[in-house]
Amino acid sequence: MTLITNHLPTAELQALDAAHHMHPFTTGAELAAKGARVITRARGVWLTDSEGQEILDAMAGLWCVNVGYGRKDLAAVAARQIEELTYYNTFFQTTHVPAIALAAKLAELAPGDLNHVFFAGSGSEANDTNIRMVRHYWAMKGKPEKTVIISRKNGYHGSTMGGASLGGMAGMHAQGGLPIPGIVHIDQPHWYAEGGDMTPEDFGLARARQLEEKILELGEDKVAAFIGEPIQGAGGVIVPPATYWPEIQRICDKYQILLIADEVITGFGRTGNWFGSQTVGIRPHIMTIAKGLSSGYVPIGGSIVCDEVAEVIGSGEFNHGYTYSGHPVAAAVALANLQILQDEKIVDHVRDVAHPYLAEKWQALTDHPLVGEAQLVGLMGSVALTPDKARRTAFAEPGAVGYRCRERCFANNLVMRHVGDRMIISPPLVIRPEDIDVLIARARKSLDETYTALKADGLV
Ligand code: PMP
Repeated sequence: MTLITNHLPTAELQALDAAHHMHPFTTGAELAAKGARVITRARGVWLTDSEGQEILDAMAGLWCVNVGYGRKDLAAVAARQIEELTYYNTFFQTTHVPAIALAAKLAELAPGDLNHVFFAGSGSEANDTNIRMVRHYWAMKGKPEKTVIISRKNGYHGSTMGGASLGGMAGMHAQGGLPIPGIVHIDQPHWYAEGGDMTPEDFGLARARQLEEKILELGEDKVAAFIGEPIQGAGGVIVPPATYWPEIQRICDKYQILLIADEVITGFGRTGNWFGSQTVGIRPHIMTIAKGLSSGYVPIGGSIVCDEVAEVIGSGEFNHGYTYSGHPVAAAVALANLQILQDEKIVDHVRDVAHPYLAEKWQALTDHPLVGEAQLVGLMGSVALTPDKARRTAFAEPGAVGYRCRERCFANNLVMRHVGDRMIISPPLVIRPEDIDVLIARARKSLDETYTALKADGLV
């Protein structure tokens, strides 16, 4: 067999990819016909593909490469750790220094009494841990009936059976027999699409109060926890009205429901604070983490757990764990990544430099005829495409215009993603003002080209 390297022609790589590689969230046949874009290397915020194109990655991979691509110091940490202790587990009363150090660091960074970490290999796995942990917690407290977890439609919590069940993605529930029992969904706080004539403030309260209604309907003695992303990411970067999270917090407190903040995207500086919970002002009992924890350099996730829950869980044996829980190489790289975020004041850079610089230009996109609203928290943002700005109307075929715009972005060497007809960004946190200028110029050009094409087709 030919040696498969970067040096093979793109068409050959694409053919091999189509023949043997099954892609996540992709129509295989469609991709096989078109050929996947082959990314060969990356530095900072820039990707290079097999044709030598330089592409600005305004998604940080999948919202994860917070410190930017290609840091040699992180490569050196991984190499050193592989030599020193390649692998050992943390089961059966053993531990190792990278897991100890990372857990202690996370306890230091996380707010309040979130002082304990259960490691996983990904965000999905961590949410599966959370399902078992909150149910087991209540069982240990003598309330085994408290099992139901309330989540939101159009939330995203991963792709495992548990994670995808917590998530509220209809397309995912339609495949593989989901959701698993004991998970129910309330509506999302998506004012732009679902708020009608209500003010955002009233709508935020109304959507939060669905949690109270659901708890009363099921009975407080049946409900274990509520889970939500502080800001919905994969659902389209949906920023809830300011009234939403304080009301959710009030309801969780009143009915003694555990609050799980899924910080897989919002953690580690993305929103201009270390955690999105701080940005929206909530006090979760558990935070799900992954992605920015290691800036995507190695797979690692986990649950940061408060004193009370950790104490109860730790008072007996928790029959749960993954071979790679706290993997030493992943833990060492994650720790070094957190040290970089801290030493280089990258969270401050998001809050004081990158966000303000981008915010003004991002907001200005609303002068474009296709853009109905623009939202940006820290460095996660979205613009809503619409045929009628005043009425916030959706296009007749949902997602088709977003897809066309995404294709224009790709052609213009900009990675933006579309969720339905929302265009979203989540660039590496180290993005500089001059890169932001390129991002905005390419985004505008792509929007213009999309608009021209839609006009030609009589769609606007
Ligand atoms: N939770 C949230 C909020 C996410 O955005 C994601 C991934 N996009 C996950 C969980 C799942 O993480 P992973 O893909 O690492 O399993």
